[in-house]
Amino acid sequence: METTKTQRHEDILEMFKKSGALLEGHFLLTSGNHSNQYFQCAKVLQYPEYAEKLCGIIADRFKDKKIDVVVAPAIGGIVVGQEVARQLGARSIFTERKDGAMRLRRGFEIKAGERVLVCEDVVTTGGSVFEVIEKVKQQGGEFAGIGYIVDRSGGNVRFPVVNTEDQIACYTTQAVKYSPVECPLCKEGSEPVKPGSRDG
Ligand code: ZN
Repeated sequence: METTKTQRHEDILEMFKKSGALLEGHFLLTSGNHSNQYFQCAKVLQYPEYAEKLCGIIADRFKDKKIDVVVAPAIGGIVVGQEVARQLGARSIFTERKDGAMRLRRGFEIKAGERVLVCEDVVTTGGSVFEVIEKVKQQGGEFAGIGYIVDRSGGNVRFPVVNTEDQIACYTTQAVKYSPVECPLCKEGSEPVKPGSRDG
């Protein structure tokens, strides 16, 4: 029996909560804004069983799309790309930032005309994914799809290199964010923390 979309949403939320991936508090985001919620996707992906289920949603969607290679931005996207590629029987490579620019290193390559699926863990503004797209274009890859675990833009981020139906998120949410001067949590006197930075 096919699980309904709402049921799937609930199951995913359960995985996030069980693994501590969904944090509640007062956070400083990379953008400089503050939020009362933070997704640390690595916390759910540390369990291969959860990674298999979540990435399976993306892999299922593209199983008939003849994907040659999955490309993901380091570091967050690597686990997602690897697991999706495993389920699709495709190659898995990643881009990484060096001297500020997104690069394909380690001898990784995309041959002209290869069908590419771009994967990521969390998309908020889509910055890293847009940079990966530029790399894939330079290599002459053909865009087959874009898939990620969490969309924090409420579905607003669009990657025009693929059709709407070939851009999928396992879980979509609208992140609550405040500019530092307007943050109600700061006004209550608490200090924002940078998530995941406790051990440097
Ligand atoms: Zn604040």
